[in-house]
Amino acid sequence: MRAASATIHLGALRENLRRVRELAPGTKVMAVVKADGYGHGLERVARALEGADAFGVASIADGQRLRAAGASQRIVVLSGPDEAGDLAEMRRLKLDAVIHHDAQLGLLAADADPRPLRVWLKIDTGMHRLGFPPERVREVHARLRALPGVDRDIVLMTHFANSDAFDDALTTHQIERFERGVSGLEGERSLSNSAGILGWPEAQGQWVRAGGALYGISVVAGRIGADFGFRPAMTLSTRLIAINRIRRGERIGYAATWEAPEDMVVGVAAIGYGDGYPRQAGAGTPVLVGGARASVIGRVSMDLITIDLRGVPGVQVGSDVVLWGRGLPVEEIAERAGTIGYELTCGVTRRVRFVEDES
Ligand SMILES: *Cc1c(COP(=O)(O)O)cnc(C)c1O
Repeated sequence: MRAASATIHLGALRENLRRVRELAPGTKVMAVVKADGYGHGLERVARALEGADAFGVASIADGQRLRAAGASQRIVVLSGPDEAGDLAEMRRLKLDAVIHHDAQLGLLAADADPRPLRVWLKIDTGMHRLGFPPERVREVHARLRALPGVDRDIVLMTHFANSDAFDDALTTHQIERFERGVSGLEGERSLSNSAGILGWPEAQGQWVRAGGALYGISVVAGRIGADFGFRPAMTLSTRLIAINRIRRGERIGYAATWEAPEDMVVGVAAIGYGDGYPRQAGAGTPVLVGGARASVIGRVSMDLITIDLRGVPGVQVGSDVVLWGRGLPVEEIAERAGTIGYELTCGVTRRVRFVEDES
């Protein structure tokens, strides 16, 4: 069996949800579980986070999976219906629909099914991805409310573009545009993603939408989840499958990019970009070997990486190698690879064995 495994810490997921509640007291929490729970496994994440008030998903198919797994919470399809058949399926599964575009108003208006669909009305306050402009909110809200097939309790929502930069006035402007657009309208409010929860407490409304924070990952530059009281929910690990003595001047790996400056020991670990370990993580990227920090040398290949074992105590073939997670923040690896932690956890591939751990 290949040694590469992703351990999902269910206790950390539960604790992170408690921490979100502590940071956003009195609000309801939508646990965002799109992209297979940020790569942690949709059903297992939903089970661990059964205390959430709702789940946010990117597709109706994920809603089907959650209902099949027994989830009874509200499930919000974050981009809503995109063809007529979606509405019937959403009603059948009792999925909430985010409505962000005129095309969806057309689908709803043409739909004769009177079973009420719960709707989140999305307002574009500056992200310029999905949503109606603030000046149209009143009109769209009234049209939705007039439809017999739409539940009268409509949640008003927006999404921040740069809330992880705690000093960017764009978020202040987004909050103001939102307030202006929705003022006087009935309905719960929802503005904040994880970074909004951390940096913009004035924007909590009645619903916060937490993704990354629940998995213990921060997107705030230079800060890791632990800085905000979150614990990593995934540890990606493998084992050393070879230890080789390499002579000074010999070069290691594809393209022979790394040259041994002295006679040295090099470890080979069974993980590579075929498992989702980023090929961009170049020489110097940290790993833990038997709990001690060491660095990747040479190119990451599909199934293997090579590791500088100089000065690493007590290593042998079979020693544990941690790529990220407990003891080695995924944010640090992401920084090395020019990406964010979310992309790394989302990118763990199917050949990696997933293991659940209660802690
Ligand atoms: C993904 C997503 C979130 C969660 O964002 P995080 O940064 O992971 O907390 C919240 N709201 C919407 C609309 C999203 O698409």
